[in-house]
Amino acid sequence: MNVPLLDLKKQYAQIKEECLRVTGEIYDSQHFILGPHVEALESKISGYCGAEYAVGVSSGTDALLLSLMAADIGPNDRVITSPYTFFATAGAIARVGAIPVFADIDPDTYNISPEAVARRIDGLSQKARTTVKAVMPVHLYGQCAEMDELNAMARANDWIVIEDAAQAIGSEYKGKRAGSLGDFGCFSFFPSKNLGGFGDGGVVTTNSKEFYDMLVILRVHGGHPKYYHRYIGGNFRLDALQAAIVSIKLKYLDAWTAARQSNARRYRQMFTDAGLADRIRTPIERHDRHIYNQFIIEVDEKRDRLRDCLLQNGVGCEIYYPVPLHLQECFSGLGHKPGDFPTSEHAADHTLAIPVYPELTEQQQAYVVETIRAFYESGL
Ligand SMILES: *Cc1c(COP(=O)(O)O)cnc(C)c1O
Repeated sequence: MNVPLLDLKKQYAQIKEECLRVTGEIYDSQHFILGPHVEALESKISGYCGAEYAVGVSSGTDALLLSLMAADIGPNDRVITSPYTFFATAGAIARVGAIPVFADIDPDTYNISPEAVARRIDGLSQKARTTVKAVMPVHLYGQCAEMDELNAMARANDWIVIEDAAQAIGSEYKGKRAGSLGDFGCFSFFPSKNLGGFGDGGVVTTNSKEFYDMLVILRVHGGHPKYYHRYIGGNFRLDALQAAIVSIKLKYLDAWTAARQSNARRYRQMFTDAGLADRIRTPIERHDRHIYNQFIIEVDEKRDRLRDCLLQNGVGCEIYYPVPLHLQECFSGLGHKPGDFPTSEHAADHTLAIPVYPELTEQQQAYVVETIRAFYESGL
């Protein structure tokens, strides 16, 4: 049996007619950048996330970059974030000239630990502490970070809060949605996210009119009015085609999320039934609602051999992320070494993402679990 990590062709089959109709209309209009499709999507996304404003942008990475720019974070500033995330999170911080300050994660959720943040800040010099301007929590794999604690620290220290919600559209924390929990919410429409386009795209949400105005100006090179520049921005525009596709998919998102959640429940049951509950740790849900962009299992031993065995048997799987950011070569200047963030390093060595996409069938899930059971039984 073949079980891919993600099967976008199955999703496309459900929406093909709608997509072809609307893209055909856009080709006829020859209006490709920003415009009514982007505005319509922005209004739907702000409603969906419970935020006041939304600004369509060119990617999730650019959503992070643009938010940092709109918050006027730059050279010599510091931004706190997790070392256990996709590279773009810390990459965006470095690209505006600021310094990423890593704080370790919570072993249950893989999200940045507020206690670790507090310890990390205590460990900084008084001078360095005054340069900390923002915290950028990542809602990893689709579950929100500990926003009450982080927001309280941010208020006490006058930090901006930028949510990296690229994996967390529709995710909830105490009844509020990702993207409404900080100053900026950054989302990605990369095809493998829960709400993906037919190419790159993203969106920034905010509740602040002031930040909204800056985002809109900086999205078009900082020209306001056009060709008059008080600020230096960039080309961060979203395509009409991507906005139209994402708008179509948004109608199905809640049903797709429910299917992912149901697949997650079924995996838990199947691992228990297979006698693997001691061997395989399944995701711990601390906050409703986890949207399962990824379903992450954690194993004590032989993670790499388990991955090889799954791949050999036709089961898609992936290590997110094999090298924590504090150990990446490009950040060697920060002076970190193995052992600095042990929980992140442990997660990088012991976790594996297995298929959880909405169209996954019960038979496919049973095959995944049986392959894992056979692997451990074989003692390989
Ligand atoms: C995907 C992702 C991004 C970047 O989004 P792109 O649209 O690919 O630029 C940033 N942060 C996290 C956590 C992501 O998963």
